[in-house]
Parts: sequence; structure tokens; C-alpha cells
Amino acid sequence: MQNKSKIEEGKDKAASQTIIDQLKDTLKQIYKKELPLDHLVFLYTAFAGIFMSIFGLGFNIVKGLGMFTWPVLISYLIVSISSILYSVVKKRWYGAAIIVIGSSVFFLIPFLWFTIGGATGPTGAIMLTGGLCIALVFKGKLRTVMLALEGIMLIVFVVLEYNFPDIFIPYPDRASHYSDLAFGLTMSFAANSILAYTVMDQYARVRDEKTRLVHRLEYLSLTDALTGLYNRRFLSASIDEEMRRAYETGSRLTLAMLDIDHFKKVNDTYGHEYGDEVLFNIAQIMKISLTNGEIFGRYGGEEFVILFPGKASAQSLPVVQTLANYIRSHGWTHGEPVTISGGLADYVSGISYSDFIEAADKNLYRAKREGRDRIIC
Ligand code: GH3
Ligand code: MG
Ligand code: MG
Repeated sequence: MQNKSKIEEGKDKAASQTIIDQLKDTLKQIYKKELPLDHLVFLYTAFAGIFMSIFGLGFNIVKGLGMFTWPVLISYLIVSISSILYSVVKKRWYGAAIIVIGSSVFFLIPFLWFTIGGATGPTGAIMLTGGLCIALVFKGKLRTVMLALEGIMLIVFVVLEYNFPDIFIPYPDRASHYSDLAFGLTMSFAANSILAYTVMDQYARVRDEKTRLVHRLEYLSLTDALTGLYNRRFLSASIDEEMRRAYETGSRLTLAMLDIDHFKKVNDTYGHEYGDEVLFNIAQIMKISLTNGEIFGRYGGEEFVILFPGKASAQSLPVVQTLANYIRSHGWTHGEPVTISGGLADYVSGISYSDFIEAADKNLYRAKREGRDRIIC
């Protein structure tokens, strides 16, 4: 029996540990700004509910205002605490938010309005905060209905107060009126500011993250994963753009198509991984040696393209030959030199995209036919 109760105790301890751990996790998530805005605002409201009810109870005791507010404040305290615990343990918060925000707006606020000075008290300001919470936390019809109800409630209170001033409990003296105003208005001001700050903070972070993702997507969609060079999509667009520029301005433009010689043999002899290493190293050599405004990238498997805006093929040829020399004389892991063949083509005003590519391709295949390891223009 004793053993069993010890086991029972252990279980209880483990369970309470878990709740505390889960609470700690939630607090950590709040601190690290990992929670979505609506979830966060719900938690803020529930924490504010705990604070308000404890403060209200304390204030009543200290001021000796009687016990008639206790049931309301204690119920509100229980609702606030249990909604937090429910959301932490069940990992669901929307239902708890309906209860905690709903009871704040449609239970606590009317109570405050009638018991602390009506329109002359701070409840009107607290109602603005309630509306903000509804707008930030709920979705769709529920949000519209709750906001409309709160608006109607506000009008009804004012009309009631105008017509039946006696149904509101007035402040006993100026001191309690103004101390209540000071507290209530400050609370509402603080809550509104925290809400606005939270919204702007989240908005700024989401916007920055979106910009970062757009840049990342742009980068991924335009570059080749293995070499980090521009990919065919980017190169095709660039060829198009440069052709248009050359057409409009009459400036020169050269297109170079490069292809690794006997690359299939490299793969077959030393393995695909070594083939990848060769592609990667050629890309590095291109990055180091092409620094004069050339646009270049990996056009296909073992094919590379270089565009020379403003240059004729006669001026571009030495640059490509120097690149080919760098590649040949690179310290390749297996000692065997890697060579490339290349074909250059001048842009001729008015030619089509495919004719421009074909002209460079023709020269590339001539270079292959004539024995490879050469650049032809
Ligand atoms: P040629 O001198 O006539 O160009 O002969 P080649 O062997 O280079 O040409 P071929 O078109 O027959 O072979 C190209 C090879 O390139 C075949 C393919 O496996 C290889 N390749 C294409 N992309 C990659 C890649 O990303 N990594 C590796 N390792 N190999 C690739
Ligand atoms: Mg090829
Ligand atoms: Mg090849």
C-alpha cells in the first residue's frame, strides 16, 4: 500500500513536472518570439487577466470594499489560469481564447462598467483593448460577430447610463475615482502599446523573413547547385537581354560555348565524384579569371557559356584561350590534364536567339572535330 502510494506520488510528481516543463517551454517560446501573433495575444490576455484579478482582489481587501466583487474576480482568475494551462497541455488554444477573451469582454467589462463609475471610469478604455484583442486573435465570422456585439454593448451602456444614471455604482469620492482612472487608463494604455508593438514586431520579422526567402529563392532558381555558377535559366535570359541591348545600341557582343573534352571518359575512369570535382574546379577557375564584366555560367552538364558584352570575338578569343590554358595547367588530382573545346560567335544585328547559339555551337563542334583542346571563332 505504502509502495503504491509512493508510485502514485511519483506519477503525480512526473505529471506536475511535465506541466511545469510545458509552461516553461511556452514562456521560452514567448521570449524567443516563436509563437504566432494570435496565440501570443491570447496568452498576453490570459496573463493580464491573472494580474488584473489578483490586483483587483488585493485592492478590495486593502481598501475594505466588501466581498461582493470577489466571486467575479475569483471566477475570472480561475478562467485565466485554466485557459493558459489548457492551451499549454492540450497544445490547442483557440477554444481557450474564446473563453478567456469572451469572458473578459462580455463578463468582466460589463461588471466593471456597472461597478466602477460607468462612462466616467476607465472601462471605456479597457473596452478598446478588448476590441483590439478580438481583432487580433479571432478569425472570420466569430471576429465580426464579437466586435459588433462589443460595439453594440458600448452604445447600450452609454444610452442606459444617460437614461438611468442610478443603475451605476458611483465612486464614493474623488480620490477613488481618480486613483481608479490612473490605474485603469494606464493598464489600457500599456496593453494597447504592447499589442501594437507586438504586431509591428511580428510584421517586421515576417517581412524581413519574406525578403530573405525571396532572395534565397531567386538565388536558387538562377544558380547551379554543384558549381555555384549561373544556370541555364539565367544564361538564356542574359543572352536574350544582351542581344537586345546590342541590337538597340549597335554594340558588339560575343557568345562563347565551352565543352569539356572526353568528360565521359573522366567519369568512367575516375568516377562520377571526380567528374563533379572537375566541374567544380573549372567553375572556380572561371570565377577567378573572368573579371571584366563577362556573364558566364553552366549551360548544361559539362557545357559552359560566356557572354562578352561590348566585345567582338577577336577581343574575346584571348580571354577564352587564357581560361583554357588555366584549366589545362591546373593541378588536377589524377595528374591527367583536363581540356576544353570552345566555339565563339559574334552577334550579327537582327539574328535570332537560336541562330546566335547555333553559330557558337558550330564552331564548338568544329573545335571537337579538329582534335579538341582548342577555341575556334
Ligand atoms: P566530347 O569531348 O565530345 O565532349 O566528349 P564527352 O565525353 O565530354 O561528351 P559526352 O556528351 O559524350 O559526355 C558528357 C558527359 O558528361 C556524360 C555525362 O555523364 C557527364 N556529365 C554531365 N553532367 C554531369 C555532372 O553533373 N557530373 C558528372 N560527374 N558528370 C556529368
Ligand atoms: Mg557536351
Ligand atoms: Mg564534352
